Amino acid sequence: MKSYFFDTVLLPGGWARNVQLSVTPAGEIAEVCADARRGDSTHIAGVALPGMPNLHSHAFQRALAGLAEFRAHPSDSFWSWRKLMYEFVGQITAEQLQAIAAQLYLEMLKAGYTSVAEFHYVHHDASGRPYADVATMSHAIVAAAQLTGIGLTHLPVLYMSSGFGEQTATEGQRRFTHADVHSFLELVQKLQQAYGSDPQVSIGVAPHSLRAVPAAALLEVTSAFSQMDTNAPIHIHIAEQVKEVEDCVAHTGLRPVEWLLNNLQLDRRWCLVHATHLTEAETVRLAGSEAIAGLCPTTEANLGDGLFPLAPFLDSSGRIGVGSDSNSSVSPIEELRWLEYGQRLISRRRNIAADGTTPHVGRNLWQRCCNGGAQALGKLTGSIESGYRADLVVLDPEHPILAGRLQDQLLDCFVFSGNSNPITDVITGGKRVIENGRHLHEQGIVNSFRAAIRAASL
Ligand SMILES: [Zn+2]
Repeated sequence: MKSYFFDTVLLPGGWARNVQLSVTPAGEIAEVCADARRGDSTHIAGVALPGMPNLHSHAFQRALAGLAEFRAHPSDSFWSWRKLMYEFVGQITAEQLQAIAAQLYLEMLKAGYTSVAEFHYVHHDASGRPYADVATMSHAIVAAAQLTGIGLTHLPVLYMSSGFGEQTATEGQRRFTHADVHSFLELVQKLQQAYGSDPQVSIGVAPHSLRAVPAAALLEVTSAFSQMDTNAPIHIHIAEQVKEVEDCVAHTGLRPVEWLLNNLQLDRRWCLVHATHLTEAETVRLAGSEAIAGLCPTTEANLGDGLFPLAPFLDSSGRIGVGSDSNSSVSPIEELRWLEYGQRLISRRRNIAADGTTPHVGRNLWQRCCNGGAQALGKLTGSIESGYRADLVVLDPEHPILAGRLQDQLLDCFVFSGNSNPITDVITGGKRVIENGRHLHEQGIVNSFRAAIRAASL
């Protein structure tokens, strides 16, 4: 059995020194021994933390990062960004998607994400017809994850209409849509059969949003999926935009999160992505459901969505995790920092995400989002303990931003001090995929990405 030895490790109960970690061939932590001797374990000098699960990504959008940062119209908004996104997604091939996703997942690993939930809605060919193998685009995502080593929760997306009231999908949405729940569930089953025995890959499901999935279909798909797999995660975009909230109220009489709470059994399997616009009552009810609020602060800022009510949600014991979503930014640090700073700016106070048990904001956010992210991905990860996936990042304590810092103070400095990256090594599923800052397949991945971007002619 493989084993590693670390100088300092953040365990669930706190910091430990001289920790030996043994790992099963399937990539699970078999045993954790603190105050151990090094023996013949592989010694990785530094401070090991649980790797961060990234609970929301659209990989292909990485290719659009930075391309919508000019004013085309005085009222530029989420909706004008979406128009650009549709133009790009209309032409992308499976090979290009794989190359873009591999580069993205490589960047995620180096930044500290060790697993990712891919909210995947580009299913069909450029004309909108299903591929001969309906899972062609999903296979491209899984191949990218396998090449890089990142843990994957693949979430095929059900997308049926362009707006509330079962509006017909537009030409720009032709690659996303399924005519009925049955054909979508065939895709899900196919993926479960293909990857069900792979410990690196989990399969969940994602009804896109209340605007893109009619109520009857949403109830049908969640019920059918729950019977297929009783523990797998269900993700949905919700209450991201004020217009979406207004449209939902106009069509149903209820706000989006209110509608979900009233019509579905929200529980630990659910991840409500964004959940930006909540009333006080929704905030408390959502926290009580134990569903995850999937927060994507850099994308929500980039798209001008709004601010999630973090303080009251945490006060109600709400569960959170972070995602890179549009992948304009690929850094858990930046997500955590924006999450905290947005709250400071609006409340004119400091140290919002802290409590009596964990007063250090960096440590509190890292651990909360590791735990919440793991729940959202439906994986035992985000904590260094036996039975969990061996997903860790290792920091260089001699890096200038960390020099002389210990334990919680070191973690605060990692999150809040500067923009250079002190991560030297990353282990996913027990494999050392980043070693001294480099991935084994890095050059090939980068070259394929460059070729894909040039060919995409944006
Ligand atoms: Zn999204």
